Amino acid sequence: MKLTIVGSGYVGLVTGTCFAEVGHYVTCVDNDENKIKQLQAGIIPIYEPGLETLVRKNVELGRLKFTSSIDEGVKNGEVVFIAVPTPPQADGSVDLSFVEKVARSIAEVLTEYRVIVDKSTVPVKTGEKVAETIRRYCKTNVDFDVVSNPEFLREGSAVADLMNPDRIVIGANGDRAAAIMKDVYEPFHAPIMITDLNSAELIKHASNSFLALKISYINAVAAICEASGADIGMVADGMGADKRIGREFLNAGLGYGGSCFPKDLSAFIRISDDLGYDFSLLKEVERINGDQLERFLKKMRSVMWVFREKKIGQLGLAFKGNTDDIRSSVAINIAQRMIEEGALLKTYDPKGMEKCAVAYPQIPLVSDPYDVAVEADAIVVATEWKEFKELDWLKIKKLMRTPLIFDGRNLLEPGEMKNLGFEYYSVGR
Ligand code: NAD
Repeated sequence: MKLTIVGSGYVGLVTGTCFAEVGHYVTCVDNDENKIKQLQAGIIPIYEPGLETLVRKNVELGRLKFTSSIDEGVKNGEVVFIAVPTPPQADGSVDLSFVEKVARSIAEVLTEYRVIVDKSTVPVKTGEKVAETIRRYCKTNVDFDVVSNPEFLREGSAVADLMNPDRIVIGANGDRAAAIMKDVYEPFHAPIMITDLNSAELIKHASNSFLALKISYINAVAAICEASGADIGMVADGMGADKRIGREFLNAGLGYGGSCFPKDLSAFIRISDDLGYDFSLLKEVERINGDQLERFLKKMRSVMWVFREKKIGQLGLAFKGNTDDIRSSVAINIAQRMIEEGALLKTYDPKGMEKCAVAYPQIPLVSDPYDVAVEADAIVVATEWKEFKELDWLKIKKLMRTPLIFDGRNLLEPGEMKNLGFEYYSVGR
């Protein structure tokens, strides 16, 4: 099939590439001309495992191309996906201006039937607004359908998630569009769930809020573990072995961050408020999440007394492992807080440093993970990169002034660290 994706970021680019990989002909559109030029030149502007190889392969096969012209995109694709940002506004509600703008742009160039698919995470009833907008701005009386197809990929494993999804949710109010969408996803051999438009939109916000809730829940339990001497790893394993609960998202740490959970949670709270329901449970999830960083800093201060003039090495800036994405990263927050309190910080991240240098020039970077340890009074592990686990920790200990580790992601083994001679602190154990 001929498909178009408007918005070639983490979601749009990976989705478009995976559609091409299963045999569709895909046009990726972006209004960032620089990004399109890079992509046309074979430069991938984001890091996502496995993505570069797939982009190259499908460009060579003629199944994947890039353009900054929405006109070309709408002409080329019988299905047009919208994958543009839906950032938070100051009051927590969603800024839908990117989606609205794309809807208007599509309307202006629409000349024959198209399925317009919203893949961006949007409040319930946005699809209805998109349809209304297209109808208003379209110059002809052309037929079209608006569908919701929320995306559940995780950055860091986006290609694998897209190629092997747990389920595909398609919210469509008519059979014609639903049938076309089934054809789009048929090559993925995954369960397809057809719902009405509003339900599909709600599934995404309800899912992300539930996952955030799981994280805050285990972080609250971690606080009880710390107070009682229990071990959060053992508690989470014991809980997670119950199929009704599941082990995933029961990892205690510094709390959730990233470009999705914080904004989707506050959006869902606002949407609920607007619909007349006070979702106080989710407000508490947010509070616990914010508290998690404060509790960790408090723990650090209780050991180090003051940060001022202390050399602290930080491993990790990305909001999670396997990605270069630093948007709303708790690792960035902790670095900023230590700098504010006078620490002499050095940070390292395998993929996040380029973006950090642009967005947070005040955060000092080093190009070798061992450099953060040189003469350091302490090391903070702020992102769960597998490669941090594999560092030569004995070498690190020798480089440090005092062998002190604060592991905010429970990445390292407490027993092993103690055997190596470290004073080691983590979360809930
Ligand atoms: P992103 O910022 O990485 O990418 C968005 C892209 O859209 C950018 O390249 C931007 O230049 C482009 N864009 C903006 N306005 C445009 C326009 N008018 N025309 C063409 N292109 C335009 O964002 P993302 O992380 O891919 O997220 C996109 C949406 O998907 C958001 O609603 C997000 O909540 C949702 N989502 C994200 C993830 C994730 O893990 N990143 C997962 C699921 C859902």
